[in-house]
Amino acid sequence: MGRRERRIRSVRIPWLAREYKRTCSDCGHVWQVPKWAVHPPRKTLPAGRQFDSMRTAEVVTANAELGEKAAVFRQCAKCGSVHYKERAVRS
Ligand SMILES: [Zn+2]
Repeated sequence: MGRRERRIRSVRIPWLAREYKRTCSDCGHVWQVPKWAVHPPRKTLPAGRQFDSMRTAEVVTANAELGEKAAVFRQCAKCGSVHYKERAVRS
């Protein structure tokens, strides 16, 4: 029972995710940012379990890749500015 509850809580529901719209403060360019890029889901190692170094490396790599993908949304694609206004929109 305890194990099942933990599993349910960790499940992400992507279709409920909202998106964000960012408007460049410098050129007015608008772009959309998926929620995962605003708050990247971090893979974590299961707690209280034995894990080997291969698995640790896998998780570290996955987190780094996500961070790299999210970085694309952090600046204006048109002028490269990092100044923007952000608002949430329902997708
Ligand atoms: Zn811009």
